[in-house]
Amino acid sequence: MKHLLFIVLVAWAGIAHGTIKVVTSLPDLADFTRQVGGDRVTVDNIVRGDQNPHFVEVKPSYMMKLKAADLFFLIGMDLEMWAPQIIDGSRNTKLEVVDLSKRIDKLEIPAKLDASQGDVHRYGNPHYWLDPRNIRIIVEDIVAALARVSPGDEQFFRANGEAYLKKLDGKIAQWSSTMKPFAGTRVITFHKSWTYFTAWLGLVVMDQVEPKPGIAPSPSHTAELITLIRQAGIKVIVVEPFYDSSAADQIARSTGATVLRLSTSTGGVDGTDTYLALMDYNITTLAGALK
Ligand SMILES: [Zn+2]
Repeated sequence: MKHLLFIVLVAWAGIAHGTIKVVTSLPDLADFTRQVGGDRVTVDNIVRGDQNPHFVEVKPSYMMKLKAADLFFLIGMDLEMWAPQIIDGSRNTKLEVVDLSKRIDKLEIPAKLDASQGDVHRYGNPHYWLDPRNIRIIVEDIVAALARVSPGDEQFFRANGEAYLKKLDGKIAQWSSTMKPFAGTRVITFHKSWTYFTAWLGLVVMDQVEPKPGIAPSPSHTAELITLIRQAGIKVIVVEPFYDSSAADQIARSTGATVLRLSTSTGGVDGTDTYLALMDYNITTLAGALK
């Protein structure tokens, strides 16, 4: 009887307590939310790590994910051009949409709003989560948002956030020291995904395989890159898992440079199920190729 009462009480407490329902755009934001929210949140993400976050085909199932959610965490800066359609379609009037870019020091903000930065970086470069020093701001904002939904759990969220950031700080020191010998190294990337990452590490991105963000490679730009790589002695071309590498492969064959698959999000390549594992993978792979 005592046992039964205990089980009933635990079940009741679980229902009464409830969990905060969070949807995120990127799997990286889902990881941070799990680190902060523990068992007091349920988290789902829209974009997989091996998908291009700029271009997501809107599906009714995404609207269903948002229908019952309390919070929707976004990178912002128009990375998720597809998000307004999902938010409208969810018809969830209680949903709080949280733009995590608000307090970030943004890079490549265009002097005036036009298409000169290509189709997809009109409000500046949105790939700020690849500088791990920006994760502190993201995690603090996640703590605050969860606490708005469940004020009684604020201390729990805050303690988890601080523990995670302490672990992250240790990793940042380790990654910086691994990459220190390569400061000033020149690289080519496929897309401007690595602006914050390379600024953090002191690497120099000479050009992109895309002529402009979101614009497919062209033969004339590819020819220019071959000349540039030969002249500058560039060793690596960084390509995300979701881009067709044929233009980069052609450049590599003509120059002897290596095409390196680095991932911009957790789960983009095998064994990167958390942000820390993702960054471990990117740093180890890059350092190995630049040696
Ligand atoms: Zn982009």
